[in-house]
Amino acid sequence: MPLLVMKFGGTSVATLDRIRRAAKRVGVEVAKGYDVIVIVSAMAGETNKLVGLVNETSPLFDAREYDAIVSSGENVTAGLMALTLQEMDVPARSWQGWQVPLKTTNAHAAARIVEIPTDNISAKFAEGMQVAVVAGFQGIGPDGRVTTLGRGGSDTTAVAFAAAFGAERCDIYTDVDGVYTTDPRICEKARKLDKIAFEEMLELASLGAKVLQTRSVELAMRYNVKLRVLSSFEEMDDAAGTLVCDEDEIMELNVVSGVAYSRDEAKMTLISVADRPGIAAAIFGPLSEAGVNVDMIVQNISEEGRTDMTFSCPTDQVKRAEKAMADAKAAGAINFHDIVADTGVAKVSVVGIGMRSHAGVAAKMFKVLSDEGINIKVITTSEIKISVLIDRKYMELAVQALHDAFELEKAA
Ligand code: ASP
Ligand code: MG
Repeated sequence: MPLLVMKFGGTSVATLDRIRRAAKRVGVEVAKGYDVIVIVSAMAGETNKLVGLVNETSPLFDAREYDAIVSSGENVTAGLMALTLQEMDVPARSWQGWQVPLKTTNAHAAARIVEIPTDNISAKFAEGMQVAVVAGFQGIGPDGRVTTLGRGGSDTTAVAFAAAFGAERCDIYTDVDGVYTTDPRICEKARKLDKIAFEEMLELASLGAKVLQTRSVELAMRYNVKLRVLSSFEEMDDAAGTLVCDEDEIMELNVVSGVAYSRDEAKMTLISVADRPGIAAAIFGPLSEAGVNVDMIVQNISEEGRTDMTFSCPTDQVKRAEKAMADAKAAGAINFHDIVADTGVAKVSVVGIGMRSHAGVAAKMFKVLSDEGINIKVITTSEIKISVLIDRKYMELAVQALHDAFELEKAA
């Protein structure tokens, strides 16, 4: 039997009525002859509520209990979805992560999937079950306790099941009808893409486009899982949504496919550090140990053996970064005159696989920003991406101007 994975996000299972609508979609695929593995999120808002209860009870919570609590939202939707399907005469059964068992690492609250044995579920399909409904976001660690995969982790559950079972496709049902050239809320010309390459999606997801968890895209790319993002609120249509696929399946590669942004960035500068071998390690080692997610790094010109080191990180990690640096200074590991935090910056990035073979994208991006009078504070590039830090108040203007300049409203 050909097999599909269908994942329904929180808004698609927010009420019993929506669960019924989702179940109907599953029924349509079953009627076509597919076995279906349905992955469900918790009902919209449920995980946030559970995280809130944990924080209120114990601010420095034990991560094992955090996982036991926040994984429970998915258990409810998995059971409800199975019951709804049974009511429609579709043979269905629910599975919690440990029952599969979806085996993960021991990193509670941020576990990674290690293995998904297929025998349990395959045996049930062989007995006539047509739909396995699996609670997303959760698994079981080597200590035998429930783990979770990090916020948004049901996407990763879905892709991992698609890879393990060799699914024909993995459909991710959400509340938007696909992946856009940029966020339609800040740029009305944003266009839905019919197809996007894994690598582009990976950049967009990690740059702040929230439609898929970054890890799910990594997995899909590694195992070549055909991934489709589509809305559960629109009519069923086999060509709907955006297909995330190998670049070979895309005829016309865009030079630039999308503009991404991330609002809550901070730029930090260590003023006057000694420019000597080992200094970067002495700075970024303690930052990493303190759990600071450093993104961009710039070491400035050195004068008389001293230099300024600039890096960016999320705004809510500034305090932690300052403390890590102060501690390293007190311990004599580094020496600097001052540390300056600019918490009013945003990151804007252009992404496109065609950049590999087209020169001039960076020059064009900088010209567009300069024409708008926007000052660039830090620049980083990769093979298929250029990111800049700018004042947050110009972020929307920058996104719109870049979208216009690269004519993203037009299909390639
Ligand atoms: N319910 C979990 C969350 O909100 C996992 C998910 O929906 O992907 O993060
Ligand atoms: Mg999600």
